[in-house]
Amino acid sequence: MPELPEVQTVVDDLNRKVVGRKITGVWFDWPKMIKDPYDQSRYKIAHKHVEAFKKALKGKKILRARRRAKNILIYLTGDLLLLIHQKMTGHMLVGKWRIDGKKVIPIEPKPVVEDPYNKYIHLIFYLDNGKMLALSDLRKFAKAILGSTKEIENLPELINLGPEPLDQSFTVDELMSLMRSEQRKIKQVLMDPEVIAGIGNIYSDDILWTAKIHPFRRANSLTVNELKSLYKSMRKVLIRAVKMRGTSTSDFRDTGGLEGGYTDYRLVYQREGEPCPRDGTKIKRVKMGGRSAHFCPKCQQL
Ligand SMILES: [Zn+2]
Repeated sequence: MPELPEVQTVVDDLNRKVVGRKITGVWFDWPKMIKDPYDQSRYKIAHKHVEAFKKALKGKKILRARRRAKNILIYLTGDLLLLIHQKMTGHMLVGKWRIDGKKVIPIEPKPVVEDPYNKYIHLIFYLDNGKMLALSDLRKFAKAILGSTKEIENLPELINLGPEPLDQSFTVDELMSLMRSEQRKIKQVLMDPEVIAGIGNIYSDDILWTAKIHPFRRANSLTVNELKSLYKSMRKVLIRAVKMRGTSTSDFRDTGGLEGGYTDYRLVYQREGEPCPRDGTKIKRVKMGGRSAHFCPKCQQL
């Protein structure tokens, strides 16, 4: 699933590529993706709502894009805000496509045409410069919600989020006070968006390896020095991953359809059996709930 660095990559791209453009039309073939801000249930699709989504977007200008946790927020004229969550396999692309019956045929750019990961287009926003903003999503779990700025900004999924780890205002003291009351395993806590926003399976593994902390340690058992190291590692790993435009071990691509550079740089995530970059010990993988944690048994001890 796209995490903070992947979503930030998309948002930075959108600010560069589509800000100032007007939406001239909307196409989709999976109405379940379009959620009503008041009723997001997956199974009840109000036809009226889906039509209203199309109508409301037509003629609106894109003012700016912003990231909050793993959400993409696109501010539009008319006091509208479009929230897109890419979920498991979704990613936004900017290019050109042609609809032929039930088929969506990619025209440009080249990586979008050639990479099969970019071919699951289910939602397209037509722009006034002839280009299109599209969502490719193999598993079709991504969602788009449109409402007034206030309505969207006050959705529980945004209101209940924890602090942004890369915000200037997020201090080591704040991290310490968040962890003090946490009895869960540190990896689990790092991946809980209501504690800290935007970190998932990939970056929690690499952050904990950098900080030399075992993923199963109880969060409230970490020492002051370990918490300081965790704070530094969090920033270091996330900043580097943003610079390298994210990870593409799964479906993630940037808006040009290209893979992220952090894939080759990964420290321990999905590197079971490979040598620890610090001491050469074989990286281990252990199950944690429905997920896996990757770590070095030598430099990350329980
Ligand atoms: Zn090691």
